Amino acid sequence: MIQVEPKTKWFEKTVQAIRSVTGPGKIALHQPEFCGNEWAYVKECLDSTFVSSVGEFVDRFERELAVYTGAKHAVAVVNGTAALQVALLLAGVEPGDEVLVPALTFVATANAVHHCHANPHFVDSSEQTLGLDPDALRAWLESTVEMIHGKARNRQTGCRIQAVVPMHTFGHPCDMDGILRVAKEYNLSVVEDAAESLGSLYQGKHTGTFGQLGTLSFNGNKTITTGGGGAILTNDPELARKAKHLSTTAKLAHRWEFVHDEAGFNYRMPNLNAALGCAQLERLPGFVSKKRELADRYGKALAGFDQLELVREPFECQSNYWLQTIRLKGDGVGHRDSLLSVLNDAGLMARPVWRLMPRLEPYRQCPRAPLPVAENLEETLVNIPSSPCLVAGA
Ligand SMILES: *Cc1c(COP(=O)(O)O)cnc(C)c1O
Repeated sequence: MIQVEPKTKWFEKTVQAIRSVTGPGKIALHQPEFCGNEWAYVKECLDSTFVSSVGEFVDRFERELAVYTGAKHAVAVVNGTAALQVALLLAGVEPGDEVLVPALTFVATANAVHHCHANPHFVDSSEQTLGLDPDALRAWLESTVEMIHGKARNRQTGCRIQAVVPMHTFGHPCDMDGILRVAKEYNLSVVEDAAESLGSLYQGKHTGTFGQLGTLSFNGNKTITTGGGGAILTNDPELARKAKHLSTTAKLAHRWEFVHDEAGFNYRMPNLNAALGCAQLERLPGFVSKKRELADRYGKALAGFDQLELVREPFECQSNYWLQTIRLKGDGVGHRDSLLSVLNDAGLMARPVWRLMPRLEPYRQCPRAPLPVAENLEETLVNIPSSPCLVAGA
């Protein structure tokens, strides 16, 4: 007699495989770790009374971020969304413009465009990188855009397309060479959303340092956290100066006068958060190596499944593996939601990838390219527990 395996047997095997890596108990998707100088620096900050908009930890955090990423300048701000908004403004995005954004991203990328009174224009992703696909982008622009006075214009909407925002999904760098080439052809500014990829390298160079500007996030679930926070990276000293100016109320330096030369933002990172950030940054290399080790362990535990595979870093890239990701394949396709409930029921926190931006109410009417790959990724990607503490050791 032929023994027929129940159709969902592989769900149990998946739980066992993930458990073999995480160990027992309820396992979070991503939890921060404060095992270094966090208490010391935060206490030092409290003792100094400089907890807010003035203090040395902000300068230090910015300096150390620049050193770590290899960017010439880093400007710390209140969160990653604010960082993106300011970066887009400095990249020349004006009200009514369109900005090319992956349909598959966290909502903050689209929100930042919206906050500039511009419109996100959604484009497709790559199977290999999970980020913007430069070939699909070029094909789409060829069919939709005309160049007028050296600027790209969307023939359908009549709007100028000013910038493109590649995002390094779950820490995996996207094809920056290809994206920079298309951006050059269409005279687009490049603002990299590197919120998820602190510690990730593309061809040996840190993500977020390829475009005119790049942005980071230090939200509680990111690779390092400042509570809430973000930063703008750039190699251009003038853009760095403007980023600082615009994010700190656009106040002209003076010993006592309050003179502001434009309507600036109050987006400066408080010193208290920067104190936490300085301590977290010291731990970053350790976090990244633990996350990479975790990917190796999951990779081994999940090898041999016909229904799914672990997403690995793209060619010529070193990923921080911010969120570990499995992708359904073969018979596994179509079972995302069942797998999610089995994993979560088993105490293993798992999440689907974000709903595609054009399917969200605020962005339904926005222009978009065909999105076959993003639609497939939306149905097949599942994030599994990714905390560095799942790997023992200092
Ligand atoms: C986290 C994140 C941001 C920024 O988020 P904040 O919570 O505002 O710091 C932006 N883009 C992406 C893709 C993100 O994952």
